[in-house]
Amino acid sequence: MYFETDAIVLRSNKSINNDIFLTIFTKKAGKMEVVSNGAKSSKSPLSACSKPFVFGRFILNTKSKMMKVSSCDIYDSHFRIADDLNSLAFGNYFIELCNLTIYPNIADTEHFKLIVEIIHLLSLQSIDYNLLRAAYLIKLAKITGHKPHFDNTCIHCGDSTDKYHFSIHSGGMICSKCIEGTDHIKLNQQFVSIMSYLMEKDVRVIVKTKIHPNYTIKIIEIFEKFLMVHQGIAKIKSKDFLDIL
Ligand SMILES: [Zn+2]
Repeated sequence: MYFETDAIVLRSNKSINNDIFLTIFTKKAGKMEVVSNGAKSSKSPLSACSKPFVFGRFILNTKSKMMKVSSCDIYDSHFRIADDLNSLAFGNYFIELCNLTIYPNIADTEHFKLIVEIIHLLSLQSIDYNLLRAAYLIKLAKITGHKPHFDNTCIHCGDSTDKYHFSIHSGGMICSKCIEGTDHIKLNQQFVSIMSYLMEKDVRVIVKTKIHPNYTIKIIEIFEKFLMVHQGIAKIKSKDFLDIL
């Protein structure tokens, strides 16, 4: 039996003999662990597709418990990402975060489409990587079902509020009556507008927008924490390297 699906390679985990074990994000069935037999040899037809960031049409042999890559028609290897330390660091961060927020054998076409777009934009290399990071984080919050509330109602009591105190743990704005003892961050109107813009617009549009780095950095800080809290992520390993760049 064969299973055919579009997929992007998130990780090459280990290799035994000449075989490479991969974590792939498939369009039809979410996260899958597969093996590319003989792919470590450069002569193997599977060697080109058994690397992180490769996006293609995979044909998997489902006969054994661990599915085997039978063949792959590469749409884009995104090889440029690994050519540059900066884009590689961001790329590793995106695919680690993706891997942490998807599930085995559960299709998530919205997230699939998003990560393919993010990796494609990253491979173009002429964009603001931190803006791409902010956009991915904010959209990830929405996709994973924890869409934060930026409107003028208090997430605790429902009263309207004219102040912008955002609570990461509560996932929304809180009014001055409910503020005590919460982890709130004070934001301004413009910041809230930018967050809503990033939440709603297509990433291809977002990367063409000019947003001041002060806002981008703060959004990254808030939404990284937001995702870690609401997704139960203890550590994003690739973040350490990204932060020293
Ligand atoms: Zn309240």
